[in-house]
Amino acid sequence: MIITRIAPTPSGYLHQGNAFNFLLNWLLARSQGGKVLLRIDDLDAPRAKPEFINDVFETLEWLGIDWDMGPTGPDDLAAAWSQSHRLPIYNQLLNKLRTKSHLFACECSRKDLADSSGLYTRTCLHKNIALDTPDVAWRVKLEADAIIHFTDGWQGAMQFALGQEMGSFVLRRRDDIPAYQIASLADDNHFGVNAMARGMDLLPSTAAQLYLAHLLDINSFTQTQFYHHPLIMDDTGQKLSKSAGSVSLNHLRSEGVPASLLLANFCKWSGIEADGAVKSAGDLLSIPLSSLKF
Ligand SMILES: [Zn+2]
Repeated sequence: MIITRIAPTPSGYLHQGNAFNFLLNWLLARSQGGKVLLRIDDLDAPRAKPEFINDVFETLEWLGIDWDMGPTGPDDLAAAWSQSHRLPIYNQLLNKLRTKSHLFACECSRKDLADSSGLYTRTCLHKNIALDTPDVAWRVKLEADAIIHFTDGWQGAMQFALGQEMGSFVLRRRDDIPAYQIASLADDNHFGVNAMARGMDLLPSTAAQLYLAHLLDINSFTQTQFYHHPLIMDDTGQKLSKSAGSVSLNHLRSEGVPASLLLANFCKWSGIEADGAVKSAGDLLSIPLSSLKF
């Protein structure tokens, strides 16, 4: 059975690009008799503010999206579904990587990294800093020429030069919190996720997580069907996530904008000729998946 996930990070109000992605994941599952997991990525606790967590539930209800696994509301998230409950699972994977000598400690400061123009140049790889040193990040040993190949459900054959594009990325932060790449991979494996729609901005993460899944022999992830979709731009050609706050779904709802308008946009962005017939998320189920064009 196909299992997809909706995985927002509650560090800001959701925008139309998020809704587009949620609907795609929901549609992938529901149109094939599959299940949907709601996973709220709240590992970065100080940024996971209550208003942003509420916004996730309000948005899903507004869109008419339901889910089979995951929190029913903010209280249930805190009690049972927060990523903080799964820290032992993330640390288990980190320890496995450590045992297999795939990690090194990095003592570079934020300023050092800013000076190195983005890509980490493995400055600390040969310093042999002990991993248990306080205030160091853990990075993965990654060959500079590492290239990841996979077949995408919408984009076809993909290759990503992970070594050149991302370098030795962080797996545990200086504050000992597991990084997004390991937590996301561990969660997808834990909940049996086997298909996901992702924005093209997450292509580097897909490649990074595939690399880790190979190191850790996590076959459920290496066999996951990925569907990467274009990012939704605003009228000025900017990514929505970078636009001003006025495009947030929270703002649209407060202005009384109906979800059917968003669903009409969804059809437009997906290349579907719906002629205004889509009034609720359920109406999307009559559209064959093969008619989505990206
Ligand atoms: Zn370093």
